[in-house]
Amino acid sequence: MDKDMNYGSDYKYIPATSVGSGVGIQVLPDLFCHTVQIVNINLVGNPETKEFVLVDTGMPDSANEIISVTEERFGANSRPKAIILTHGHFDHVGAIIDLVKHWEVPVYAHELEMPFLTGQRSYPEPDPTVEGGMISKMSPMFPNEPIDLGNNVEKLPSDGTVPHMPDFRWIHTPGHAPGHVSLFREKDRALIAGDAFITVKQEYLYKVLTQEQEISGPPRYLTTDWKAAKESVIKLEALKPTVAVTGHGLPMSGELLTSSLQKLVKEFDRIAVPDYGKYVDKNIH
Ligand SMILES: [Zn+2]
Ligand SMILES: [Zn+2]
Repeated sequence: MDKDMNYGSDYKYIPATSVGSGVGIQVLPDLFCHTVQIVNINLVGNPETKEFVLVDTGMPDSANEIISVTEERFGANSRPKAIILTHGHFDHVGAIIDLVKHWEVPVYAHELEMPFLTGQRSYPEPDPTVEGGMISKMSPMFPNEPIDLGNNVEKLPSDGTVPHMPDFRWIHTPGHAPGHVSLFREKDRALIAGDAFITVKQEYLYKVLTQEQEISGPPRYLTTDWKAAKESVIKLEALKPTVAVTGHGLPMSGELLTSSLQKLVKEFDRIAVPDYGKYVDKNIH
């Protein structure tokens, strides 16, 4: 099943870290968030039943770390039922081919992400000129060529259900990437937001390093449609999540999450949208 898969030719380890790197947090009994360098992965499922999925796959070269975190939580040789991707940026698909080969499990993503996951199209180049932050300036070194998962990746079902995550539904939250999705569970209002909004200012090396908690729009250097990104945040705030795990930064819950999301919606143009950058057109806001 794996013979046709390959990473882009610019795939490489990226030397970047944070105080959270290698640390896992049990956010809910069946939601475990682990930080790989500067990005989060989520294991969703109860360790007692051993039925679980992996949401997103970390940085390049992190497969061994992800496998050992998984086995620590679910037992030796355990494997998820599936891998769900919030989107296909390099820091969310970093270990995916190694993991698919190791576990032989299907991958699901939104249909608009398919060109970036099957070697057909690169994302627009990251923008090092965008307002703010050393990480933005480093962004041209990030892998940008599409990976090719061949026929190992499938479209998420169009009815909103998420394979092997029975209580969750996926919500299309474009802007940061065209087929970006967030995952929401009504019964406890748990949200896996991906990069639709995050809880750290990801552009700034120091803030990433310290993981200082602060509501933020999607990472600026890779966000190309700010109008859609704003609509996506409005959509997620309307769900009134009580706990959120995001692609970057620490989990957030309760009153802090509620008030932070309200503030992000109200002040999106100031907090999230950069003052300048090649994907910014202030006229449309
Ligand atoms: Zn991203
Ligand atoms: Zn990201």
